[in-house]
This record gives sequence, structure tokens and C-alpha cells, in this order.
Amino acid sequence: MGGGSMTAEAAYRDVPCPIGRAADVLGDRWTLLILRTATTGETRFDRFRAELGVADNILAARLAKLVAAGLLTKVPYRDGGRTRHEYRLTPAGADALPVLLAMARWGERHTRTTDPSGPMRVLHSVCGQALASGEYCAHCGRLVTRDETVWIRPWRSPEPVAMAQPAVDAQGVADGAA
Ligand SMILES: [Zn+2]
Repeated sequence: MGGGSMTAEAAYRDVPCPIGRAADVLGDRWTLLILRTATTGETRFDRFRAELGVADNILAARLAKLVAAGLLTKVPYRDGGRTRHEYRLTPAGADALPVLLAMARWGERHTRTTDPSGPMRVLHSVCGQALASGEYCAHCGRLVTRDETVWIRPWRSPEPVAMAQPAVDAQGVADGAA
């Protein structure tokens, strides 16, 4: 728990159900899609906007909410002569991966698409087999870590996409970027 999560903890501590508290943080379409996009490695405002097709004001508000809730951390970077900020997953934000995977499984099972390109696949990169759950690989039995998890979304690309790693120490990353 970093200092950035204090806002969310303070605001929602009177809700006893953890699903309710999670829903207060995660239960919004754009918030979930921003987390999905950050999980596949995007960090910059214009990249989120391009991938999501979301209006600037909505995107800015959701990013600010995710920073306040401690799921993203704002890290400065140099762009030509200017300092801009990018948004990196914190450990709490990275920990939304099982939520996204559960949504993917539920969505494949209970919703339909007219897109013909085939279902999303989640693979264990070590053995190349499909992951049925987010923890142990049913094929090789290994405990599957985040960096052994890849997504294939055939409607976008046949190439596997790696999971972004969380910023271990936001200050350290900021110092390195300065
Ligand atoms: Zn495996």
C-alpha cells in the first residue's frame, strides 16, 4: 500500500464488503478499459486516447481518479524540450490483472460479438498453452507469474502481448526520467 492509496482507503473504509469497495474504485467502464490498456503497456495520455477513443475530459478525469486511488502513478518524462507525464501501473493497479482475466472469461462465455476474428486467448508464455485460470497452469503445473502471462487478441494482432510491469518505486522511476 503506497501513500497514493490513502484517498481510496479513507473514502471507502466504512464499506465492509470488499466487492463493494472494489466496485467503488473499479466499477466504471472507462476505468476498467484504462486499466486494460495500461496492463498491455500503454502509459501516455495520447495513446490511451487513441486506443480508447475517449474524450479528453473524461480520460483526464478517470486517470486522475486512478492516480488518487493508487492504481496508477504519474511519472514525468522529457518530450523534446517539455516535461510531460505518463501513467504507470502501481502494484495495486497491476493487481487488477486477475479481474481483467475474469472479465475476459466471463465476456467470452456470456456475451457475443459479430467480429469474426476469434476469441481472446490468454497463454502461459513458458509452455505456450492456454491459461484456464490466472494462478496455476493446467498444462505444466507452474505457478504463473505476471511476466509469464501473454494475451492474444486476434481482432487486433496475432502477436502475443506481454503484461506491463508495475512501477516498483515511483520516485526512483521519476528520478531516472529526470
Ligand atoms: Zn504452462
